[in-house]
Parts: sequence; structure tokens; C-alpha cells
Amino acid sequence: MIDLHTHSNVSDGTDPPARIVELAVEAGCSAIALTDHDSLAGIPAARRRANGLGITFVPGCEVSCEPVGRGGMHILVYFVEDEDNPLGEELARLRDDRQRRNVALAERLADLGIPITYDMVVAEAGGEEGIGRPHFASVMVEVGAVGSTDEAFERYLVNGRPAFIPKARLTGADVARLARASGGVAVLAHPFSWGLQGPDLARAVGDQAAAGIGGIECTYGRYSPRQRQQLGNLARRFDLVATGGSDYHGTNKPDLAVGTGTGDLKVLDRVLAHLESRRPGA
Ligand code: AMP
Ligand code: ZN
Ligand code: FE
Ligand code: FE
Repeated sequence: MIDLHTHSNVSDGTDPPARIVELAVEAGCSAIALTDHDSLAGIPAARRRANGLGITFVPGCEVSCEPVGRGGMHILVYFVEDEDNPLGEELARLRDDRQRRNVALAERLADLGIPITYDMVVAEAGGEEGIGRPHFASVMVEVGAVGSTDEAFERYLVNGRPAFIPKARLTGADVARLARASGGVAVLAHPFSWGLQGPDLARAVGDQAAAGIGGIECTYGRYSPRQRQQLGNLARRFDLVATGGSDYHGTNKPDLAVGTGTGDLKVLDRVLAHLESRRPGA
């Protein structure tokens, strides 16, 4: 059993990177990937712990992309160890643009009469790294501007609302190209998030495969057996590696465990070798 999708406190999970590796060993995994959002900063610590415990470690990250349907598209990248490469340079640029957006968003909310400051959001997030709209939504609830984080999104933060401020985002083709140029492989994460079904989903997956994506996450923590089978069929149809993982986030998604997801997850060891066979030059 392996787990190819986990988040540490380097992004929006709650466990340190080394702890993710320990949890994978406790769950009986033979390999574990760390896939924090838009960052490879947790890789060295996770790698060291994995070497100490004798489990195979797969470096990774998860990049938020331009939507292809109503919902956002996330792409996992594997086998890129550090940021000294084209993917890493782009991740640094994305983080800079996120910070610019966050400062502008705090100003916009203040202009709209909501008594919050950028510093309050930094305090909420525990630092300037990785601040996202969920942190703004929490602070908006705390100051009583909205009754819930859902209301913060619906009234202010989503596209079309007064405090929506766009940030730079890559396409699937961009991520596929950057991954390959950095020795890695790109994989479509939880494709049902795109908000597409049936032929529309199939067409979009085919487009991404044509753009150089190497795999598709089929065995996903929260998907039903039927959904996993549907994605498996798309993997075969478009010659993509069928991958899987829990999307563990610690106590931020308490129903998901490393390795086993909601309890029924089991990604086979051979998936990793299949994925490695798609690396450039493999
Ligand atoms: P950001 O990367 O800062 O633009 O924030 C994106 C995150 O906001 C997503 O990962 C979701 O967790 C959250 N999010 C986006 N849209 C909504 C929504 N409509 N309701 C609740 N949370 C949302
Ligand atoms: Zn996340
Ligand atoms: Fe995701
Ligand atoms: Fe994720």
C-alpha cells in the first residue's frame, strides 16, 4: 500500500512533514508522497525522516490551476526534489503573486467597511506563508462581519463578488511542461472537483492528456467505488497512470487518514513504478 497525496503544515495540513512519514509507516505504507500546495519546502525534513525509517519517499507538490469547468483544477507533480529548476522558479512566482493578492484583498475588505487588517490575517494563518481566502473568511467571522465562512465566500470572496481579486494561475499544459522540464510527472488530482460529468469530463481529461499530463488520481480518499471505476476507465482510455492517495490534511480534514483515507483506500505498490516509468528519460 502507498499514499501519493498528503499535506503537511507547510501548506494547509496540521502535521509537520516528518510526522506525515511516521503516520505512513504506522499505517503500513511502503511509500509516501508529500504534496503540499504550491511548495516543496517540506521535502527535506520528510526525506530525512523517511531515510531514517526505511520507507520510500516520493517528493511532490499540488499546484492550483486555471479551472477547466466550474470548479478549480489541482495538479499533482511528483519526483521534483527542490526548487532549483523551472517548476521551482514558477512556484516561487506563484507564491509572490499570492502574497500580492492577499495584501490587496485585505485593503479591499477594509474599503468595503470590514474592520480587518493584513496583520490580523497573518496572525490567523500563523505566518505570511500560504495565506489563503479561508484565513480571510475566518477573520471575517471573528470580527462579526459575516456569520460563517461560507457566507464570507458567498457574499465577498468568490469570483463575481466585491472582494474577489484574481491571482496568477497556470494551465494544465503549463504544469505538464514545467514538471517534465524539472524531471517530474504531472497528475490530475481529484478530477470530480472540476464540476464536469460524463462526456464533458472525458473531453477535458483527454485535453489534459494531450497537453502532456501523465496520470490521473482515481483511487481518491473521498471517492466512491463507482467514481473510482469511472476515473479508471478514463485512465485506460487516455493512457494515463491511475494513481491514488488520501489527501490527508491532519485535523483540517479529520475524516481522512494517511494510507487508508476514509478507511477503504488501498493504492497498490506497483502504481509507483508505473508512475516512475513516465518520467522524462525513464
Ligand atoms: P485561495 O487559494 O486563497 O484563492 O483560496 C482557495 C481556497 O478557498 C480553496 O482551496 C478552498 O479551500 C476555499 N474555497 C474556495 N471557494 C470556496 C467556497 N465557495 N466556499 C468555501 N471555501 C472555498
Ligand atoms: Zn489543501
Ligand atoms: Fe487538491
Ligand atoms: Fe490536496
